[in-house]
Amino acid sequence: MARASKGDVDYDAKLVPVYGSRDVTQGIPKYALPEEGMEARSAYRLVMDEVLKEGNPRLNLATFVTTWMEPEAKTLMAETFDKNMIDKDEYPQTAEIERRCVIMLGRLWRAPDISRIIGCSTTGSSEACMLAGLALKWKWRERRRQAGKSTDRPNLVMGINVQVCWEKFCRYWDVEMRLAPMEPGSYALTPEKMLPFCDENTIGVVAILGSTFTGEYEPVSALHDALMELNGRTGWDVPLHVDAASGGMVAPFLEPDVAWDFRLPLVKSINTSGHKYGLVYPGVGWAVWRDQEELHEDLVFKVNYLGGEMPTFALNFSRPGNQVLAQYYNFIRLGYEGYRRVQQACRDVAQYIAGELAGMNVFDVIHDGSDLPVLAWRIKDGVDVKFTLFELSDRLRMTGWQVPAYSFPDNLTDVVVMRVVVREGVSRDVADMLLEDIHQALRFFESSGQSGQLHASAGGEVAFHH
Ligand SMILES: *Cc1c(COP(=O)(O)O)cnc(C)c1O
Repeated sequence: MARASKGDVDYDAKLVPVYGSRDVTQGIPKYALPEEGMEARSAYRLVMDEVLKEGNPRLNLATFVTTWMEPEAKTLMAETFDKNMIDKDEYPQTAEIERRCVIMLGRLWRAPDISRIIGCSTTGSSEACMLAGLALKWKWRERRRQAGKSTDRPNLVMGINVQVCWEKFCRYWDVEMRLAPMEPGSYALTPEKMLPFCDENTIGVVAILGSTFTGEYEPVSALHDALMELNGRTGWDVPLHVDAASGGMVAPFLEPDVAWDFRLPLVKSINTSGHKYGLVYPGVGWAVWRDQEELHEDLVFKVNYLGGEMPTFALNFSRPGNQVLAQYYNFIRLGYEGYRRVQQACRDVAQYIAGELAGMNVFDVIHDGSDLPVLAWRIKDGVDVKFTLFELSDRLRMTGWQVPAYSFPDNLTDVVVMRVVVREGVSRDVADMLLEDIHQALRFFESSGQSGQLHASAGGEVAFHH
């Protein structure tokens, strides 16, 4: 029966199921702003469906970034999305909570005088590293000017295993990047590798806790002692920054007695990613300086804003305040003991996976999760296997896992490793599912006799047990 009135049509339109509506049976607008809009429910479905095949973030074992938070934390974040972190005058309590987080971190990192520290939240460790690097550069320049010396050629010393944000820092702010190489069996900075790169123009040394290549901690306290000795001998003033993007929220809970932090006098600043082992969804990071003196006053802007005067040190202006609130939520929800348990559980699972992989007899585990809960392995020298780690990575993709394979930088580019980051939510059961899929993949390679590019030689049974 034909519909008679407009009223009937409207009534029917409400009953149209979402996948029966015109919006979803036509193509999606892609590169031009559409003339007219669509129903909210259709737009929601279309966008959600566009990202369907991106994979399940929980199965992404490549990332360090948080992929699980409690329902209460999600609710809190959803309800505070509208707070702009920069409006400290309008959202003074959010600003106060940011300050509390900085002070809690200063204590966690053993600042000797908590009343002297200064710090801020950022969009992540990358921004925090830019700020810390700038502070080092300004401080160095001030020392040089006072001594009547040239400020033309600043350099920064670090291992080649640094995260790309440090290369960015050096390029964007005109600082010579001095990268100590990796060597066979030595994938991180050591005092011996560091010292030859330092001179009077070194604005600082970056130590990493821990390396994204392997998960291992760099020996911060040994680097510190070597710099103390060097400074004493030469009259230089080379300080340390610790890039603790991951380790800053792991080491204080699992190795509270290891001094890598403000207990070491030359450690002037530390950064961490709130969205890594700080357990908050992206993007939040933190930078903390041991003493206000380390942050040159020229770097801090006093912004006259909505009637208030507000000091800021940041690359961004507006950004979400809800991530800072979520960080504070985690701090009071978990406390020291809660973080310890979560990180210990991650380490236990990482070490469990490492043990199982070692037992397969084809892999050489080069880091077993005993620093960061991260493990890295390569194919054992001398075993004849019919696959490469790149092929294994591809094969695991078929069951949903994202486990990266990559080669090391200059000097060791022929070393290929595979890495798994164990985060909150990678339980023992999830680990067993991964291990089962690795076994399956090995059986597949064995039976299909596939020959890898890097290990093309034929013959030789791969020994592995289930
Ligand atoms: C992740 C990481 C960074 C960059 O951190 P974002 O929070 O992603 O900006 C820097 N350094 C290290 C050592 C990292 O692990």
